[in-house]
Amino acid sequence: MSTVRKPITPGPLRKREKVLVILQEQCKECGLCIEFCPKNVLCLTDIYNRKGYHPVTACDIDACVNCGFCERICPDMAIFLINREEAKKAYKEGALQKGTVIPEFEEEKEAAK
Ligand code: SF4
Ligand code: SF4
Repeated sequence: MSTVRKPITPGPLRKREKVLVILQEQCKECGLCIEFCPKNVLCLTDIYNRKGYHPVTACDIDACVNCGFCERICPDMAIFLINREEAKKAYKEGALQKGTVIPEFEEEKEAAK
């Protein structure tokens, strides 16, 4: 039996199964999702939505663990997780309603520039 340990090589980064979607026009700036997110992913923007609130965005989307707490706590159903492929398709086709933000895809777009 060999006593030589195999080198530990990290595997490819595992993609989260779901992506975070924020309907910024529906957000009422209550801050509950920010408070309950265990990974400090969320923060408020400095823009105004139609209702005159500063909607939520993701300040550190890479830290999201898909726990779904934000989705459960939001009283306005303004933040939720959806299947990655489904979201990608809608995003590419421009089929998202105005004010819909998918932070992970926005980040990828920025990185590709
Ligand atoms: S799914 Fe969980 S980790 Fe991701 S933003 Fe929502 S509360 Fe935070
Ligand atoms: S819980 Fe919903 S309404 Fe409240 S800040 Fe978060 S996304 Fe906006």
